[in-house]
Amino acid sequence: MPADDGPALGTPAGPVDVAANLARVRAEITAAAQAPRAAAAVTLVAVSKTHGAERIRPALEAGHRCFGENRVQEAKAKWPALRADFPDMALHLIGPLQTNKVREAVASFDVIQTLDRPRLAEALAAEAARVGHCPHLFIEVNTGEEPQKAGIAPAETAAFLTDCRDRLGLPVVGLMCIPPIDEDPALHFALLADLAQRLGLAQLSMGMSADYDVAVRFGATHVRVGTAIFGERPHPAR
Ligand SMILES: *Cc1c(COP(=O)(O)O)cnc(C)c1O
Repeated sequence: MPADDGPALGTPAGPVDVAANLARVRAEITAAAQAPRAAAAVTLVAVSKTHGAERIRPALEAGHRCFGENRVQEAKAKWPALRADFPDMALHLIGPLQTNKVREAVASFDVIQTLDRPRLAEALAAEAARVGHCPHLFIEVNTGEEPQKAGIAPAETAAFLTDCRDRLGLPVVGLMCIPPIDEDPALHFALLADLAQRLGLAQLSMGMSADYDVAVRFGATHVRVGTAIFGERPHPAR
């Protein structure tokens, strides 16, 4: 896709039937879950990063209420107006969080899926103490142990969880992963599911447009699906 062919933030031309896409993704989740009860336990996080309100609103109007954004500033610009019209919605942060954005993130998001380092845990605990509440948190696990990638190493996750919960009092509810791009995601989904079970964590955020059905088979409770719902993004998002 040509990068300089249109606005930096917005939506590419062309019809995208967001409501139909949502219905199709939900049907695929149901098929993958193999039991209606299991499918109902899967939260579809519709990843709306880089898309404008005109493409997000049809999803809200179709009854969808859970969305994911990867940047604090973008979420702050886009979501207050949408939230005013749909106050029962939930917004998940799925991108890296800098400690100097923690205050805005705690104010803007209901769930933060990217708790990936001790310093961020400290900053979240300080902000939670200041404002008296904290979004639910997922620990991001670097299942591929990729040096350039954010996240806690699998072997260190137990100790990190204990520190977050027992010392800092943070509401950690689950684990999240982004598998290496060139590996079979199933191995990483299995690893994350096993780790969560051993740690007694009920929530598992894994699976994106290309592999959310596989993730559901491995027990995902949250899938993060962008392209399959909203169409191609106007520019590659980080
Ligand atoms: C962008 C993004 C997604 C959604 O990716 P798609 O392939 O468009 O479904 C999911 N998770 C994270 C962390 C992302 O940054």
